[in-house]
Amino acid sequence: MTLEFTTTPSENTATAEQLAGIFENPGFGRFFTDHMVTIDWTSDAGWFDARVEPYGPIAIDPAHAVLHYGQEIFEGLKAYRHADGSVWLFRPDQNAARLQRSAARMALPEVPAEAFIEACRRLVEIDEHWVPSGAEQSLYLRPFEFGNEVFLGVRAAESARFMVIASPVGAYFADGVKPVRIWLSEHHNRAGKGGTGAAKTGGNYASSLLPTQEAFANGCSQVLFLSSLGDGLIEELGGMNLVLVRGDGTLITPQSDTILDGVTRNSLLELAKSMGFKVEHRPVSIDEWREGVADGSITEAFACGTAAVITPINEIVSAGGSFGWPDSEPGKVTMQLRQALNDIQWGRAEDPFGWMVQVTDAKE
Ligand SMILES: *Cc1c(COP(=O)(O)O)cnc(C)c1O
Repeated sequence: MTLEFTTTPSENTATAEQLAGIFENPGFGRFFTDHMVTIDWTSDAGWFDARVEPYGPIAIDPAHAVLHYGQEIFEGLKAYRHADGSVWLFRPDQNAARLQRSAARMALPEVPAEAFIEACRRLVEIDEHWVPSGAEQSLYLRPFEFGNEVFLGVRAAESARFMVIASPVGAYFADGVKPVRIWLSEHHNRAGKGGTGAAKTGGNYASSLLPTQEAFANGCSQVLFLSSLGDGLIEELGGMNLVLVRGDGTLITPQSDTILDGVTRNSLLELAKSMGFKVEHRPVSIDEWREGVADGSITEAFACGTAAVITPINEIVSAGGSFGWPDSEPGKVTMQLRQALNDIQWGRAEDPFGWMVQVTDAKE
């Protein structure tokens, strides 16, 4: 069954002047476009009432499942404006598939992949003028889903809502790419074996906020989490995957079933292979990283995710000391990969993988 979408256009859309003001400094997730998409679900009716409507507050019942038991999942992907004015999404099928995997883990209904992609397309089409064209600017889409049954009993909600909202975002590094220091969390873990680490669910983020405050207090901008088993294996940051670069042209990324499988990481590693790098997807310990830095075999490290694409890392700080490449500039391989992916996303390079999905036509 294909879902039919209805559209109620906003009567209060942003003016060209307002948009120009926002695009001067969009930041991240501060401004939202004129419309949003909603699809409702009940266990009896399945998915129904797919609609594009003016952006605005929604009614929440105080007994909604999501407010009490955190039954929520989300996605993040971007729309890019190419030089000819056309707008493209990056691998929306991957986000659709991951939302389904997250849904399965969190006992939420799976949004059909066509409905997910159609929802993203329709929002980008109707709010097309919200897609900025400045350097490294894009429109960030935030699809999400939550249980909204009015019931305090503890079981999977029998009604749920899927929504997509969108927000113009600026260059993550406004003054050029700068490496960051990351805090090694020794007392908190992000995910446990058999838990929800591989699902993109709000609770994983809620639990990372306290260690993130600890990171800030120690002059770091992100947290690196280790496996909860006490085996010293590295997992990922609160919202980004991790890649280590060896001087011999090998990229290493941790393998674990409690890591969120990032679209950016997968894409960068595929690109890297096509550029002649070797890729190892295997367990990696913090000791291997520390020793590799000490003996010079590990030369760079970066975090990756949709929001910032690549964030170079130059120091790992913990209560017991730190290691890395303090005060160094971003690594060569890191910047080469960043450039290669950005060039595909903004249409400056060929897209041999067929990753880009066109939403709107080139402008005359
Ligand atoms: C979203 C997310 C990532 C990055 O995934 P992308 O698909 O590359 O944006 C990495 N780790 C966590 C915990 C995440 O939630």
